[in-house]
Amino acid sequence: MSRGTLFDKVWEQHTVATLPSGQTQLFIGLHLIHEVTSPQAFAMLRERGLPVLYPQRTVATVDHIVPTDTLARPLQDALAEEMLQALEANCRAHNIPFFGIGSGRQGIVHVIAPEQGLTQPGMTIACGDSHTSTHGAFGAIAFGIGTSQVRDVLATQTLALNKLKVRRVEVNGSMAAGVYAKDVILYLIRQLGVKGGVGYAYEFAGTTFAQMSMEERMTVCNMAIEGGARCGYMNPDETTFAYLQGRLFAPQGKNWDQAVAWWRSLASDADAEYDDVVTFTAADIAPTVTWGITPGQSVAVDETLPTLESLPEAERALAAEAYAYMDLQPGQPIQGTKIDVCFIGSCTNGRISDLRQAAKVVEGRKVKPGVKAFVVPGSERVKAQAEAEGLDVIFQAAGFEWRNPGCSMCLAMNPDKLQGRQISASSSNRNFKGRQGSATGRTLLMSPAMVAAAAIAGEVTDVRAFL
Ligand code: SF4
Repeated sequence: MSRGTLFDKVWEQHTVATLPSGQTQLFIGLHLIHEVTSPQAFAMLRERGLPVLYPQRTVATVDHIVPTDTLARPLQDALAEEMLQALEANCRAHNIPFFGIGSGRQGIVHVIAPEQGLTQPGMTIACGDSHTSTHGAFGAIAFGIGTSQVRDVLATQTLALNKLKVRRVEVNGSMAAGVYAKDVILYLIRQLGVKGGVGYAYEFAGTTFAQMSMEERMTVCNMAIEGGARCGYMNPDETTFAYLQGRLFAPQGKNWDQAVAWWRSLASDADAEYDDVVTFTAADIAPTVTWGITPGQSVAVDETLPTLESLPEAERALAAEAYAYMDLQPGQPIQGTKIDVCFIGSCTNGRISDLRQAAKVVEGRKVKPGVKAFVVPGSERVKAQAEAEGLDVIFQAAGFEWRNPGCSMCLAMNPDKLQGRQISASSSNRNFKGRQGSATGRTLLMSPAMVAAAAIAGEVTDVRAFL
């Protein structure tokens, strides 16, 4: 029975059956696929002689392996070329729309679906990628899935899932200057823990999120998974509808009005029942930087790193491991930590508003000699928009490299990799050991504006001094 949350309403509307295991067989409205997690799934389909049940509910792009300097085919990396060709062939064979390099619509899967109006409120969305939670910004229930589940969705358009509990994560008040959506989600993960959301969907609510743009909301929902929540979402509102109206795959004409009325009805009721409610204040949030090997190990930029004794006992062993790996000391300030590489991009912070914020910081300034700084737009559309606004000129004049769209150094499945012990200031979402392409490389997560400031200073610095 519905408890009045958007999560419960959308879940119930997409329930096909309750399975003998007690799991729900959930219909998936939109299946996003890319080159990394789909080849094996298509192979499993071929082995069983199964078609893709709803190719029109499936959309493909290429993002993880795309080189960001030259796009000439064949790609220089033979394995990357093979993966791209496999995706192209599978899409052709199954009649799946494919937004390839140079189509004008290619980019990181979690950037392109919203910008083209594919992501809509009330949908269930699945993708073989952890950060599918991004799409929850629109009031969709969106899950990252594994390869065998990609197969299941291709073959049946459904998934067998356990229903989640719902935690309302409320943040109220305006963000101070120099504080961005990335800081809000890093703060929340620090407060609630990287495993705090296990078994939950996070409903992000309160005036802070209500004031955010759709792009800021996507940054927050993108990292719900880093807090352990399988999905994160916000209730659709006028900001959501204004963003969607007129986009390529958004409903048009009379259908638009009907869709908006339906979307409105999906928002959580004022008296909805939650499994948990937590409340925070935006005024407590400062520009935030990670210092460790999980996104929960972070501090405000003007704080010192925690001593082991100041941490809960259960967190001390991991903190000690992080300090040893990162070569940082408890009690030291994070400000002043020298940086080798600055990366602005990813599905967390590779959208046009992110690039605008970073450009504002670098305009008229120069990247510190010895720092490698580069910008990777989240999609071809973002790149074109940024160039139309002259942001590429601002970045390049400051000494940044201006690249082609893709995941790039978020995961470094392409040639953009840290070398050895290099330390990066990164606008991406994961700081795990070896995440950015070097087994010993180190990552400090922060907002794109903070990355821009770090590039200028050559060290971690407070962006508020640049505004
Ligand atoms: S940008 Fe990073 S997190 Fe996002 S889809 Fe690509 S590799 Fe995954």
